[in-house]
Amino acid sequence: MSGVYEPKKSSSRKGNQKKGAQAHKNTYAFHANKSSKITKKIANMPVGGLCEKCVEVIMWRKKFKKYKPLTTMKKCVCCEQKAIKEAYHVMCNNCAGEKNVCAKCLESREIVPTNIKTEKELIQEQVELERLLAGMTERERRSYLRQMERKNKKGADGEEDEEDSEDDDEDDSEEESEDEDSEDESEDEK
Ligand SMILES: [Zn+2]
Ligand SMILES: [Zn+2]
Repeated sequence: MSGVYEPKKSSSRKGNQKKGAQAHKNTYAFHANKSSKITKKIANMPVGGLCEKCVEVIMWRKKFKKYKPLTTMKKCVCCEQKAIKEAYHVMCNNCAGEKNVCAKCLESREIVPTNIKTEKELIQEQVELERLLAGMTERERRSYLRQMERKNKKGADGEEDEEDSEDDDEDDSEEESEDEDSEDESEDEK
């Protein structure tokens, strides 16, 4: 082992790019399987114990088929029990309830009472969205989705928490359900 210490290429980029802004991966095929099992299942997953902002983020994920359900129970950051079954939550409902904080962003805000759109409403939205997108060119579609994404991310701290597998060693079964975030690299120039 040579003792050469090679610093990893430190970010020498000038003008700090928005960090962590990964390539937009929202180019997915739009198949109108509005009533696919998984869509229904996801639509039926309750959204609860969250602040308004987080509810929005979750609803957005559902709507845009970006909601990835947990496959195993997740560890609560507070009691460290594997007690979380809701995707994107970081605290179990018990702890969050006790502390009166949002189970996702952990800030104490007003918790929105479980707000779940009915399956019908959600599917309706989905259909409308797909119809809207179907009338767009690929390009318009992308920028529309990007806009939506941006809008939803604005102020949503701790979004992009999909890669938080470090606290959770056995989260191996990360099989993408059936939402295709295709790797279709959409270079985002401009
Ligand atoms: Zn807990
Ligand atoms: Zn929140």
